[in-house]
Amino acid sequence: MSYEDTPIVCRDCGTTFIFTAGEQEFYAQKGFMHAPVRCPTCRRARKQSRRNDQQRTNTGQNKPDRSSEPHP
Ligand SMILES: [Zn+2]
Repeated sequence: MSYEDTPIVCRDCGTTFIFTAGEQEFYAQKGFMHAPVRCPTCRRARKQSRRNDQQRTNTGQNKPDRSSEPHP
């Protein structure tokens, strides 16, 4: 099976980026069935924002305050 460079319009910013033959081969090896819908810049931005969301969620948890426990 051969691959060709394919131009794709980014779903987020509308920029046309090239899904290269090499990337298509890489995707196929990873088992991804679909071409990316976002340009590399937006993909990276989304990955970053997702990480920030996780951090916010973790710090939002209420942990019991051990320092307030009475000493025996
Ligand atoms: Zn984009």
